Amino acid sequence: MRRRDFLQASLAAAAVLPVQRLIAADAASVADVPARTFTGSITTVRGSDIRDLAASMRGPVLVAGQDGYDSARRVWNAMFDKKPAVIARCASPSDVMRAVTFAREHQLLTAVRAGGHSLSGKSTCDGGIMIDVSLMQGVRVDPKARIARVEGGSLLAHLDRETKAFGLVTTAGTVSHTGAAGLTLGGGFGRVGRRFGLACDNLRSVDIVTTNGQLLTASDEENQDLFWGLRGGGGNFGVATSFEYRLHEMNPTILGGVIAWPGAQARDLLRFYAEFSHSAPDELNTDLTLAPGPNGQSLAMLEVCWSADKAAGERALKPLRAFGKPLFDKIGAMSYLAMQSGNDESSAAGSRFYSKSGFFTDMTPAITDTLLEAFENAAPGRVAIMLQQGGGVIGRTAVNAAAFPNRQANYWAMAAIGWKDAAEDEKNIATARGAWKRIEPLTSGFYVNSMSEDEYSRVAANYGPNYARLQKVKKQYDPVNLFRLNANVLPA
Ligand SMILES: Cc1cc2nc3c(=O)[nH]c(=O)nc-3n(C[C@H](O)[C@H](O)[C@H](O)COP(=O)(O)OP(=O)(O)OC[C@H]3O[C@@H](n4cnc5c(N)ncnc54)[C@H](O)[C@@H]3O)c2cc1C
Repeated sequence: MRRRDFLQASLAAAAVLPVQRLIAADAASVADVPARTFTGSITTVRGSDIRDLAASMRGPVLVAGQDGYDSARRVWNAMFDKKPAVIARCASPSDVMRAVTFAREHQLLTAVRAGGHSLSGKSTCDGGIMIDVSLMQGVRVDPKARIARVEGGSLLAHLDRETKAFGLVTTAGTVSHTGAAGLTLGGGFGRVGRRFGLACDNLRSVDIVTTNGQLLTASDEENQDLFWGLRGGGGNFGVATSFEYRLHEMNPTILGGVIAWPGAQARDLLRFYAEFSHSAPDELNTDLTLAPGPNGQSLAMLEVCWSADKAAGERALKPLRAFGKPLFDKIGAMSYLAMQSGNDESSAAGSRFYSKSGFFTDMTPAITDTLLEAFENAAPGRVAIMLQQGGGVIGRTAVNAAAFPNRQANYWAMAAIGWKDAAEDEKNIATARGAWKRIEPLTSGFYVNSMSEDEYSRVAANYGPNYARLQKVKKQYDPVNLFRLNANVLPA
């Protein structure tokens, strides 16, 4: 199917979908609402304008007090209990065009939401507009051309499930209820990233509504600069309505699982892991976690995913499985899909969460010892230290091939803490910050998809040689910086 045909087909499919009641039931009674502009001032959005927007859209438009408003404004991290003045729940690309135009004309502070997993709560806002594409879900795989066309609100679970049916895969993250849009636009690390590149490296094209309200296709053939910027530049340029990914053949049964050691063996394990992971083939991904165990003792866990020939994987994993005295070893043949959703429950939405993160190029002894000290000195049983592996194809891709700048990142490290009670916010944030303080000087750059507020002033430095080009693209497609709730690039 040609690209244009696909766009037409998506619009037609959306037209017959039983989308929920499209115009909020009590739209007729919408009052004027106070709202926040993107420059920070307070304005009033007329109820009649909101009614017009609702009447022009197929998806619902919601304001406080209407049915569905509270569930629509909820995001993964419960720390961000924000109240947008307007939520535009888009059901199609033309809805997105109307919502973006409305946001620009009213100069509203604009948040864009797909899977809602922004760790720093950037997909919601107080008083502005939330442009929500989470109703736009759907994946169409073309197995012959090895392409997946994915609607802008789809979750990784949708992508993985549909591609797997054809023995195909592309890089997706490690928790399957994460949105494909946010993850891909910022980079996209995952269990097959070392073998196939970041999610953004696998993009063939993106359909996007930019600030002027027009729907564009960005690819190697058209709007090339925009396409370059979208692969790592996050949500800076508009609202993506669909993505085309390149797919790869892969056996849907992988060799994977978790192997764990008691915390007492963590120091030696970390040293061993530094060597082992450094020399690992691209087909092997290993993610390490230091975490409090169920009985109060700490655990060092490695989750592995070998995505190629099983016998070769068993050989590659032999030294790891022979290391020290594991508490358990649950590595075996398993479905890739089961592995991709294995962390879904433990990472469910609704908890409060705070993390600090950054990249390491190499795991030097200074780094492994610091990670351990940070973990051990944090209040016992509270902070987890996690390392997700990069490198492989990701690291062999040129820094200027796409906007994603951190190609040297062999390890994405995070100090994370989750909790339920808002009364513990201050204490827990301080604990995570305290742990990270020791680690941060050893990092080189950070991942825009896991930034905390502290990093927002360092976005330009983090993009390094790619920042100037990003600024030019920003100026062309979002000169007023409507899309600023992200790792914000200032227009040139
Ligand atoms: C539990 C969990 C696990 C994670 N695991 C991984 C992982 O394995 N690998 C990895 O790389 N990252 C991972 N992340 C980080 C993840 O990549 C980011 O949080 C990402 O932004 C989530 O995308 P989303 O669509 O769910 O988020 P949202 O909160 O909906 O969006 C986040 C941001 O992305 C932009 N955005 C979203 N949708 C669009 C759109 N349609 N058009 C334009 N801009 C848009 C906006 O700037 C928005 O603020 C994880 C996060 C969580 C919470």
